[in-house]
Amino acid sequence: MAKGKLIVFSAPSGSGKTTIVRHLLTEKALGLDFSISATSRQARGQEEQGKDYYFLSPEEFKKKAEADAFLEWEEVYTDNCYGTLKSELDRIWSMGKHVVFDIDVIGGLNIKKQFPEETLAVFVKPPSVEEMEKRLRLRQTDSEEKILERVAKAEKEISYAKDFDVILINDDLEVAKKDAFNLVNNFIQK
Ligand code: 5GP
Repeated sequence: MAKGKLIVFSAPSGSGKTTIVRHLLTEKALGLDFSISATSRQARGQEEQGKDYYFLSPEEFKKKAEADAFLEWEEVYTDNCYGTLKSELDRIWSMGKHVVFDIDVIGGLNIKKQFPEETLAVFVKPPSVEEMEKRLRLRQTDSEEKILERVAKAEKEISYAKDFDVILINDDLEVAKKDAFNLVNNFIQK
């Protein structure tokens, strides 16, 4: 099977990376498909099973980890595990597409390490941690406790930005979308 490329977007949550990834998926010329992660957290808001995530019970998640079904997985937040299933790469590559990931910083670097030549690892940086905290509050999907947990994690995550291939600053969303398109387009032509 011909392998496609891997495009990783990692960032603290509230940095706008999901919006950027969704935008790139609408750009048909890029030929991207989304790597649907598995998670043991509950679905929130409008999220759908098998579209946003494969929602698994903690037991199901553990079984898959033991069966070595994950390319990478992590307990990203207390009791909430997230991971990339190996079967996602086969699913997407078999359609002749490139895989795009919306995953956390450690997971993103882990994928880059496993596929150094084929991966473009992009770190999406919010203009500031204060701005990110504001965006999380506006989103109204997380409790105060979760928001504070995410903010604390973000500060640590930003220190890994230097290990990525590119840092994309999301100051102005429209500019960031265009920059992301150009980065990916150049990489897949290589
Ligand atoms: P959320 O709960 O906001 O959907 O995601 C929480 C965090 O988990 C985000 O930083 C998200 O990028 C990360 N995440 C989602 N899927 C994966 C995955 O497959 N692996 C890893 N390592 N992190 C993931």
